[in-house]
Amino acid sequence: MYIQRLYLYMNMTKPSWRLYLSYARMNAQGKTIRPSYLIDMMRKLFPALQIENAVHQIAGKKDALTLLAGELREYASGREGVLSGGELRSLYRIYQGDEKYRAYAQRLKEAAFARYEHKPLVKAVANALYGAVLENSISRLERYAACAYSHFLQYGLMLKEREEYSFEPVDLGNIFHQVLESFAGKLAERNLTWFDFTDEEGDALLREALDASAAAYGETVLYSNARYEYMVERMYRILKRTIRTLRAQLREGDFVPASFEMSFSRVEELEAVNIALSGQEKMRPKGRIDRIDTCEDEGHVYVKVIDYKSGDKKFNLAALYYGLQLQLVVYMNVAAEITARKHPDKEIVPAALLYYHVSDPMIRAEEEKTPEEINQEILKELCTTGLVTEDEKVVSLLDKNFVDKSLVIPVERKKDGTFSVRSSVMAREDYETVSKFVSHKIRQLGVEILSGNIAVSPCKQGTIQSCTYCAFKGVCDFEERIPGYHMRLLGGGTRDDLLVKMRQELEENGPEDKEPENKEQEK
Ligand code: SF4
Repeated sequence: MYIQRLYLYMNMTKPSWRLYLSYARMNAQGKTIRPSYLIDMMRKLFPALQIENAVHQIAGKKDALTLLAGELREYASGREGVLSGGELRSLYRIYQGDEKYRAYAQRLKEAAFARYEHKPLVKAVANALYGAVLENSISRLERYAACAYSHFLQYGLMLKEREEYSFEPVDLGNIFHQVLESFAGKLAERNLTWFDFTDEEGDALLREALDASAAAYGETVLYSNARYEYMVERMYRILKRTIRTLRAQLREGDFVPASFEMSFSRVEELEAVNIALSGQEKMRPKGRIDRIDTCEDEGHVYVKVIDYKSGDKKFNLAALYYGLQLQLVVYMNVAAEITARKHPDKEIVPAALLYYHVSDPMIRAEEEKTPEEINQEILKELCTTGLVTEDEKVVSLLDKNFVDKSLVIPVERKKDGTFSVRSSVMAREDYETVSKFVSHKIRQLGVEILSGNIAVSPCKQGTIQSCTYCAFKGVCDFEERIPGYHMRLLGGGTRDDLLVKMRQELEENGPEDKEPENKEQEK
């Protein structure tokens, strides 16, 4: 660093007549960038220095095209550029008068004055693309809620990224699911349950399940290089922790696993996922529920659904309100309906909708801890997130040792014995509202998809933005500075506010939601 500074100093002290310093105010994406520290230093040394705007090094028409493009964009957006209006017109005329550049300059002008206008698909085209019966995953609906255009590109035009012979984070999630399903099968084959296998038995069965999945996955990609082979060992470590934690969590409660990786598209005529849209149009969401646990007493069957996530996903009621997080509630609706078919004489109680983060966390400790203390810390770290029914009986069935802070469900108690604000609990009647609202939302999204809405309509909620991991950034042309494009800013809201909004929306829409108008189609 010192050597570089010395060179800079030597360069700056060499000129005998004049020294010009220039710096860019924006980067290639148009974002403001800060000048080098040298500029500040020079201004401190020579306070009388004046900064002159944009000294453009223009050696010919080719060089000035960049200037023209930038200035046209500034002008079109009503902002002040470095050229005056007259100068910009003169510059543009120079290109207009040159046959070689005329068409190019014209295109620059059109681009600068471009506006995005949503042109929906004609309904017949939407029907031809998607069919009258939408059979889609819940995550597809969530994608649509996040940006209708990305849904159109992925599920209408079927665009996808070129497949590569590699192992990506999404593959990691797939392997985790496969192995956990296979592990549960192996336990059953050996007449073992989730409550009574030993660590050694669990580790051996896991090894078998993981080796089989890794060998069969993606043309043996996991054995294609040393890095991926190491990845198999890492997965083993994470899954070992997962299996032990899931066992510990189950032992804390009275629930028993009723099914693993249950694909509900195969279950006939489920009301929860057989949704009439309009006329002949229907939607049949499909999916797999990672795990359903149940617990019975004389009059009730309590149902818990668990979704395994390789990322740290949290349940967010505001995201649910906007259709961005429908999965868990749909899974619970399906699980409750299937359980009701098996137990027609009992009342079905949705007990908990939970996410479990498949990981092997590291624990930070100021002082030395015993292995037992470390395990407790890890259990705390791996506590599920989601939603639990606000009912003492339900909570005690989920965690019989719960006193002030549960290690297995997102529930805490205050000193007065009531649930703290950090608890993720909801009264049963409120959950019913949420459940109905999700069915309404699904119908609404389905009707919109089939009405041909393909608007470029990304959204942002808190720090989460639909464009962040979207594969279609290079296709959609979304650019907030171009008029007509708009980032939907979705609010948050307290749980009570959101429930009020949900009830209002349910009342306004009645039992059957109406089809939105498609003006383009009428035309
Ligand atoms: S990048 Fe953003 S705007 Fe473009 S398709 Fe994806 S989500 Fe929509």
